[in-house]
Amino acid sequence: MSTIIDGKAVAEELVAGIKTATQDLVARTGIQPGIAVVIVGEDPASQVYVASKGKKAKECGFHSIQHTLPDDTSEEDLVALIEQLNADDTIHGILVQLPLPRQIDAGRIIQAISPDKDVDGFHFVNVGKLGAGELETAFVPCTPAGSMLLIERTLGRDLSGLNAVVVGRSNIVGKPMANLLLAANATVTVAHSKTKNLPELCRTADILVAAVGRPEMVKGDWVKPGAVVIDVGINRLPAAENGKARLVGDVAYDEALPAAGAITPVPGGVGPMTIALLMSNTLASAVRAAGQRA
Ligand code: NDP
Repeated sequence: MSTIIDGKAVAEELVAGIKTATQDLVARTGIQPGIAVVIVGEDPASQVYVASKGKKAKECGFHSIQHTLPDDTSEEDLVALIEQLNADDTIHGILVQLPLPRQIDAGRIIQAISPDKDVDGFHFVNVGKLGAGELETAFVPCTPAGSMLLIERTLGRDLSGLNAVVVGRSNIVGKPMANLLLAANATVTVAHSKTKNLPELCRTADILVAAVGRPEMVKGDWVKPGAVVIDVGINRLPAAENGKARLVGDVAYDEALPAAGAITPVPGGVGPMTIALLMSNTLASAVRAAGQRA
């Protein structure tokens, strides 16, 4: 029997723990974790993401602010806002919702965020720390960090002797995921669009992570019997006859389920973990700030 990994339940548990830890931090130090979300323009999908981050922050007991800037905001103005937030002691996590309008260089904006408040884990300092295995002080990008937590819940913290295949090499998912698996002693292969014999390679995986952005690309017969399958993909398929859009992952779930030892569903797997880890990173940042001031 395959286990369906309930990311929603794990995320709820995590958020409940963050809420308690926040109350404790406030009671002990008077410091309330603060998060600032910056959105430029009116992309409807981005607005939905930003609203859900703000709502989750409130649920955790954080101080939460949102800056909504017009679509024609200049790069200089956005950098000035980031610098203001970097200097604001009430803010411990800064999030800039991507994508940004064309006139703004997203790379420059990410590097303008203080590494100490970079709760998305995209600043080169945090990328470097993760690469060097400095997990105690790094902010790790939230989607791979959440995926890793689900793997730990399923297999434990030490993945010695296990083969992991990560399909996808993006900076926000594939590469940090590979680094986390490596840090947990797995033997890691990273596959991408130029990889040959992908189905065969996937069949060697005790842990298979799909982060591709192609609906149901990973087929059931790519899955080694008993493997743990983590489906990061979120693909919205056009509305069917009933008028409802369907959300699917990068794994053909119905085919993979019987083969897998454990598998994340879409939705309800990795998705809810991402936002929970964002809150966890913000709490960690506030705890560090409290330590520095104590
Ligand atoms: P990117 O588009 O940045 O990266 C996709 C990766 O997949 C690339 O490395 C690409 O290879 C590789 N790839 C593309 N086609 C193939 C193929 N045919 N065979 C093998 N590899 C292929 O995507 P992201 O990493 O940002 O996101 C991946 C998925 O995860 C998306 O569905 C996204 O929606 C989802 N996602 C989910 C999140 C969540 O909260 N659950 C958060 C972030 C993303 P190459 O480098 O050679 O081009």
